[in-house]
Formats: sequence, structure tokens, C-alpha cells
Amino acid sequence: PQDLYGKERKNSPGIDLVNPREIENLLEEIRSFTFWAAHPVIGGKRQEGPRYQIHNPARREETIGEVQEASPALAQEALVCATQAFESWNFTSAQHRAQCLRKTADLMIDHYHELIALCIREGGKTLTDAISEVREAIDFCRYYAERGEIDFGTPLSLLGATGETNEFLLQGRGVFICISPWNFPLAIFVGQIAAALMAGNCVIAKPARQTPLIAFRACQLFYEAGIPQTALQYLPGSGSQLSAALLKDERVAGVAFTGSIETAHIINRMLASRDGAIGSFIAETGGQNAMIVDSSALPEQVVTDVLSSAFQSAGQRCSALRLLLVQEEIASRVIDLLKGAMAELKIGDPFFLSTDVGPVIDEAAQKSLDTYRETMKSEGQLIYECPLDVNTQKGTFVPPSVFEISSFKSLTHEVFGPVLHVMRFKSSELEQVINQINHLKFGLTFGLHTRLDGRMEDIARHIGAGNVYINRNIIGAVVGTQPFGGQGLSGTGPKAGGPYYLHRFATEKTISINT
Ligand code: GLU
Repeated sequence: PQDLYGKERKNSPGIDLVNPREIENLLEEIRSFTFWAAHPVIGGKRQEGPRYQIHNPARREETIGEVQEASPALAQEALVCATQAFESWNFTSAQHRAQCLRKTADLMIDHYHELIALCIREGGKTLTDAISEVREAIDFCRYYAERGEIDFGTPLSLLGATGETNEFLLQGRGVFICISPWNFPLAIFVGQIAAALMAGNCVIAKPARQTPLIAFRACQLFYEAGIPQTALQYLPGSGSQLSAALLKDERVAGVAFTGSIETAHIINRMLASRDGAIGSFIAETGGQNAMIVDSSALPEQVVTDVLSSAFQSAGQRCSALRLLLVQEEIASRVIDLLKGAMAELKIGDPFFLSTDVGPVIDEAAQKSLDTYRETMKSEGQLIYECPLDVNTQKGTFVPPSVFEISSFKSLTHEVFGPVLHVMRFKSSELEQVINQINHLKFGLTFGLHTRLDGRMEDIARHIGAGNVYINRNIIGAVVGTQPFGGQGLSGTGPKAGGPYYLHRFATEKTISINT
């Protein structure tokens, strides 16, 4: 397929799961996984700090590594280093920066198995999720390299009066703080950094507390690929402490953040409360994502798509389905099929290829999801809860659960896990249902199952969501194919993996010369 500029483009192929040799090599790598240690890196120098251990979410007693945390003082050092490096990195050619990103992608391919192993052990990802995650990280690097070469490589010549030349160009803004989540510990971590660097910025990368190890590995690959060690600082540690040390400083040109809306508000307030230059804020926050199924839909297809949308990655995706709205004529059929399909789900150690649903990230997540499910047992009607076998007791597992509800009352906040709400609606209520979804004010993903062509266009236009999926599942946006990002409570609107994402990291300059 061709992209916006008519160029041929292919995403990375992933791993051939039908090839037994390939699978055996991969499993061997995961089995022989050894202890990992990570530490802050500033200007290429290893830094020390208090340590904490990282555990495998599927087997909590298994310590898979440890990380040293950066103090606020180190954060200041990182800022000084990144600020000093900015001018020289910003003035390297776009071709050179793109080359470094392509090389990073190649190195990730060389280390495919190791990165997959880290995604599984540290992030609790299933094998297939881990493969997709590494692919996405590779695709982000290549896509931004390609886009960046076009947009940052050659200034645009603009029309002007006789005797005058007018040039329009994009440059870096300065130092970007990239704050990434644990649910895509490699892809989002790498995607934010790759975009910021490609645009000419220097980066302070703060990984999620739960997943610093794979992030550390990614930074090593960036360095090996030629990204100057002064242009990228790796800063694991407490989000609140490091943010307090950095965000009020006007040398921070911008923040790229993926996480909760509550944290986004805190960051936004910090950026706003400082004097001097106004910082730019790129935020991708949560979703309260709905899917409408009308009576013309195919129930079997609906159930397949609901299953992956709601429960793949244990529901720990911003894009995941939280509310299924089914027209009453086919609701009982869909619900029955859904129960049957859920009974077949395999919940367990993500190491096994047959596992469909792995653990949630940690004890805190498990506790809050269990509390929510208990509340919903009285507020709604429990339709089905997957049984958990004894092996899951070693990890932080939460049974995929479905509750039928009769109003939007319980949907005020995002529940980040394998919990799905189902509601029936009458044909005459369709418009009202769409208004109610819009009224939730989140706007990330939305799904529609219908065979009525006119309805597809109409609803897709009226729904306030950044990614609309029709007659398919609503997760797994592909780089360059489904640029991903939401609106309203779901973020400030930039689309990761889209043609204009890099522009959000850039300043635009016009140079007019009277010759
Ligand atoms: N891009 C991912 C998807 O389409 C979701 C990213 C996220 O959860 O932040 O499923």
C-alpha cells in the first residue's frame, strides 16, 4: 500500500509462529531469561540511586531484575545535559537522524527474542501481544524516520512577491520529557522518543515504575544505533518527584505523556504554573470505549471482536472495549455466545502459546479491579466471570468479567482491566445512545457492527472518537494505517503513527529574504 506521499511502505513482518524452529528458539530465549539491572543514564554515564526489584506479574515470587531510581537532583543534571546537547542534535541533518532510527529498528530486529522475553517477563504480556509490541516499536522508528526525512529534510519554498524568497521549515523545540506507561513498555516508550528525536529534540525518558527494564534495553539500542548519549537521558524513578523537579523549569520545551487523565491534569497544571516560555503538551490518556451492535450485525463476528477488544492484554489497553451496546432483538443471542466464548478463554502464564489472557500488571491493579467487580455485582448483573485455576494464584490475575447494566451511571471513570459492561437498547434509542456515549466526554476508540451502509458513515461522523472501527475489533491500531489518539478526556489529539505526529514535536519557522 502507498502512504500519503505515494511511497511504498511495509510494516515489519513479525515472527512466523507456524515455524517450529522459530518458536523453539523464541521459547528458549524466554526460558533462559536472566536477571536484568537498570540504572539512570545521564550523558552516557551510569548513575546510582535507591534500588527496587521488578517481579514477574504471572509469578510474583520470581524477581526478574532491579532498577536504581533517579533523584530530583539527577533530574536536574539530566536537564542540563539535554539542554546543552540540543543545538548540535537539532542541527544534524534529518537524514542522519532518520538513519539512527532505522538502525535502532534493525537492532530491535536483531534482538527480537530478547525484547519479547522482556515484554513477557516484565510486562506480563502474552506471546502474541509481545510480538505485536516489538513490531510496533520497530514500525514507529521506521515510520517516523520516513516521515521526518520528508518533513524536516527539505524546507518548503513558498510563493512570494518578486525579488523575495520564502522558506518554511520545521525544527526541534528543545528538551522533551517523554513519560510512558507500563501497558506498552516498549512500543510507546520507543514511539515517543523516536518522534521527539526525529524532530530534533533532546529527550529525558521516564519509563513507568513497573517496567523500567525493557525501557533501559531500548535506550541501549538507541545509543548503539548512533543516537548521541547526550541527546537521550534515561531517568527511571518516581513520577511525582521527577515531574516536580522538571516540569516547572522553562528549559523543558514539552512533554509527551501517555497515561491516566488524572496524571495528565497534574502535568498540565505544572506546565501552566511556570513563568517564561509556555511548554507544549502531547497527552494520550484513557478511554471509556463503546461498541454499538445493531440488529443487522452478525452475532458470531461480534463476539469474536468483543472478545479481543475487551479481554486481549487483560483489557489493559486504552483502546479496550468497556461498554457493549446491543440492540435488543439480538442481545440475548450475542450474550449467550459471549458467555460460551469466554468459557473457552485460557487464562494463565503468558509464556504458553495457548494462553489468551495473562495477568494484570501488579497487586494494586488487581486489588482495585477486584474491588470494582465486587461493587458491580450489586450495581449491575454479573453475566459471566471466567474461572481461574490454581496456577493463577501465583500471579496477579483478574478473571475476565461481564456485567449487564441499565444506565450509563457506573461509567464515569475508566476501569483498566478485563471488565466489560453490556447494555441493551431499542432501535428507537439509537440516537440517544450515541449522545450518551459522546456525553461521557472520553473519545478514544469506538466500534460499530452493522450491515447498513448509510449508518456506518453517519455514526462514524457523529461519534466523538479518534479511532472508529466498523465491523472489526477496536484494538491494535497499526502504525501508518490507523494513526492512534483521541479527543476530549482521551487526550490532546495527536495521532501516534500518523503523518502529522512529528509536527507536534516541532517549531515551524518561516524565512523571508528580500534578494
Ligand atoms: N495503540 C494501542 C491499540 O490500538 C493502544 C495504546 C494504549 O493502550 O495506550 O490497541
